[in-house]
Amino acid sequence: MNIHEYQGKEILRKYGVAVPNGSVAFSPEEAVKVAKELGASVTVVKAQIHAGGRGKAGGVKIAKNLEEVRAYAKELLGKILVTHQTGPEGKEVKRLYIEEGSDIRKEYYLSLVLDRATSRVTLMGSEEGGMDIEEVAEATPEKIFKEVVDPVTGLTPFQARRMAFNMNIPPKLVNKAAKLMLGLYQAFVDKDASIVEINPLVVTGNDEVVALDAKFNFDANALYRHKDIVELRDYDEEDPKEIEASKYDLSYIPLDGNIGCMVNGAGLAMATMDTISYYGGQPANFLDVGGGATAEKVTEAFKIILSDPNVKGIFVNIFGGIMKCDVIAEGVITAAKEVGLQVPLVVRLEGTNVDLGKELLNASGLNIVAADSMADGAQKIVKLV
Ligand code: ADP
Ligand code: MG
Repeated sequence: MNIHEYQGKEILRKYGVAVPNGSVAFSPEEAVKVAKELGASVTVVKAQIHAGGRGKAGGVKIAKNLEEVRAYAKELLGKILVTHQTGPEGKEVKRLYIEEGSDIRKEYYLSLVLDRATSRVTLMGSEEGGMDIEEVAEATPEKIFKEVVDPVTGLTPFQARRMAFNMNIPPKLVNKAAKLMLGLYQAFVDKDASIVEINPLVVTGNDEVVALDAKFNFDANALYRHKDIVELRDYDEEDPKEIEASKYDLSYIPLDGNIGCMVNGAGLAMATMDTISYYGGQPANFLDVGGGATAEKVTEAFKIILSDPNVKGIFVNIFGGIMKCDVIAEGVITAAKEVGLQVPLVVRLEGTNVDLGKELLNASGLNIVAADSMADGAQKIVKLV
């Protein structure tokens, strides 16, 4: 789960990480009100969307007076911002963050990620901060430094200082930077984040070390123990199909293809997508209905798949271990009738109660193509689509 920059900065404040003063605004009037209260000589108006690259796309504006704040707020609110992270369709700006302008002396890069290769939280830093860390990683990887954190000790002050030195933070500010890193690490661990990225971290004209941007991503599997984080969720930023899926505890990820997939188990779902691709088709989604799905859940899954206008056919591939094939069949039949299924449907069932499941499908009167194996099913749906 992602959150907005202003929400991330709110969390950072609580962990003693220096961030500029600021507040969220939903209208030009509110923006002006916030700016007035800040009383800064320079105010920054920042579009809040769940994507980076706003600076380059014109989503970060520097205002020198209240009139400029109002004008920029008017310009940005309702605008579709297209950045290199939004995709060509862009994202509509519905919130702004109004913050004090910082007197930037130099921009750095700092982040914490969960490195899956080492299974450890890793601190990454570079003196090449600002916009494109991917380019730095490509062209000059030696300028990116890493500190792998031992979960027993946590990030140590020594590691934080070493990182600050490696990043060429001015020596007299190394301790300030190290303290910020320790606060950042604590926030990362306490909130079960999977990414915290500060790009840029800046050193200011009056020798402060400040987080000027904040990107947080949280581990969805740990959200149950973070009610405060769940409250920050902005549904406007998410795909409605994914929101619907999460209500029913379905793992659904939309993709670009046209063959809808309904599968139980993430591994089988991946294999199904591979098999479809192998036979020349393109999956429209990843969907794992889970082990103990009910007929209701299957019905909802079916509806979600069909709400994607690109879907020209559906492949149901179920291995009934814990899941029973007759339950799946019931769900498929109910959903197909409810939504008035128009596209071809290929079903491959195997496992517990498979005969009962097949009987139900045959008796349903629906136009369902039965498949005997995963390969057979994939070939059939690719041909039909
Ligand atoms: P994004 O990563 O989406 O482009 P940032 O928050 O990193 O957005 O802002 C982009 C750039 O805008 C920063 O690298 C910095 O140069 C400038 N900027 C952002 N916030 C401020 C601020 N409060 N004061 C001065 N400059 C800022
Ligand atoms: Mg940034």
